[in-house]
Amino acid sequence: MHNIGMQARVIIPLEEFPEEGLFVEGEADGALFGIDNTGAQSIGPLVYRLEAQLYETELVLRGDISAAFRLRCDRCLREFDYTVELEGIAISCDVKGKAVADVTEELREEVLLELPGYPKCEISGLECEINDTICDFRLDKDPHSGVNSATPSGNSVWDALDDFPHK
Ligand SMILES: [Zn+2]
Repeated sequence: MHNIGMQARVIIPLEEFPEEGLFVEGEADGALFGIDNTGAQSIGPLVYRLEAQLYETELVLRGDISAAFRLRCDRCLREFDYTVELEGIAISCDVKGKAVADVTEELREEVLLELPGYPKCEISGLECEINDTICDFRLDKDPHSGVNSATPSGNSVWDALDDFPHK
């Protein structure tokens, strides 16, 4: 059920761990987030670039992780893509007596903490459709009078409505 080349979890080998540290990078299947519903959906892998250091029984990871999601704006219900990017995170875990460290859950939590609980499409740089349509003064005009006064670019509130995704 897993894609070839895509890991299901993030595993760091601890045996013969190099004293100078270990650089680990890769991608783990976004299914690990367990997020797949209308309001929020994982659409890409967990991408990680981490420097691992082993201090006796403590594994310390420092580096960057990111993951892409499709969220639904809490206000206009439009879906938009949003990438959680975390740079310079530091995680430590107790690895006493372990041959490998599974840090999937630690990385997963870091990402999920950054996901907005009530997403607004502004966070991805979009202008919220709700602001466009409800606050747009052009709605006060008689739509029939717009036929002759349309601008050359054809931009009107009705065009904006056509762009509204119907999914
Ligand atoms: Zn919105």
